[in-house]
Amino acid sequence: MVRLRAGLGAGALAIFVALLATSNAAQTPRKWYKGNTHTHTVNSDGDSTPDAVVRWYREHGYQFLVLTDHNYLTSVAGVNALHGADDKFLVIKGEEVTDRFGDQPVHINGLDVSEQVSPQGGASVTEVMQRNVDAIRKASGVPHINHPNFRWAVTADDLKRVRNNKLLEIYNGHPQTNNVGGGGVPGMEEAWDAILTSGVLLYGLAVDDAHTFKDPGNPAVAGPGRGWVVVRSERLAPRAILDAMERGEFYSSTGVELAEYDVTAEGIRLAIRPTAFSKYRIQFVGNGGRVLSEAIGTSAVYTFTGDEGYVRARVLESNGAMAWAQPVTVARR
Ligand SMILES: [Zn+2]
Ligand SMILES: [Zn+2]
Repeated sequence: MVRLRAGLGAGALAIFVALLATSNAAQTPRKWYKGNTHTHTVNSDGDSTPDAVVRWYREHGYQFLVLTDHNYLTSVAGVNALHGADDKFLVIKGEEVTDRFGDQPVHINGLDVSEQVSPQGGASVTEVMQRNVDAIRKASGVPHINHPNFRWAVTADDLKRVRNNKLLEIYNGHPQTNNVGGGGVPGMEEAWDAILTSGVLLYGLAVDDAHTFKDPGNPAVAGPGRGWVVVRSERLAPRAILDAMERGEFYSSTGVELAEYDVTAEGIRLAIRPTAFSKYRIQFVGNGGRVLSEAIGTSAVYTFTGDEGYVRARVLESNGAMAWAQPVTVARR
């Protein structure tokens, strides 16, 4: 994380932006890579082999995929030999460490873990999360916390207390994950804003959690192609992709593609690659989930004032698709 200063003339407002996206933009050319970080195969409760699962993503315009079977580290050497190609497609190994506290499921992905990680248990939901995050880090993996509203198991207050984790699912394509909340329980975007407002910086993921490839188009099953990330990285390699994600250099989507996204010390500039029949709203959100500004159309610019706490952009498409850019911290000094 790099801190930049802007507007330091006499009497000028100095705004410090914890700048994630542009620190090395001038030196290293970077590309956008589309990927899904949560997928199952027959090695746990998926309906298809690693070969068939990887083939689906390669044939549907993705550049990377993480296989995350429940408590099983599926080998990716064979599928990378078959389907991997330099700068075109990569399979990253991973595991969904599948634990529980009582009857509350606690599932945490370990991306690129060096070895299989066993569920660690614990005396509370928070402790189960923390012990599994720590075990994933110990295995050189990158943790991400999955579907908090699945069986209403994990709250924003639980999530705020977890250390050494940067990634949180805010959209999961499995039909039982309650992304938008209900019955008095906040949706994942509202929970994310509560966490960000408390000063804990987490980056929001959209994922498939795909299990079912043999029943295409059925919304009642966990099919592929529903939520993904687009990562800005200098190359397509496991650590380059995962390090970029842990710096927040990605956006999440359920169907909106960005043509441009840049953060500077002054503000955020964003443009959409529109589809023919859609209309768009672009919103910038700050402390407390407050909408700071809204633009109608396919591009928008937001200028920091220094009072926002954090700023994140989101795009609402007229058929319900969304894109979520990652928050940047803004503070007046
Ligand atoms: Zn799960
Ligand atoms: Zn899963």
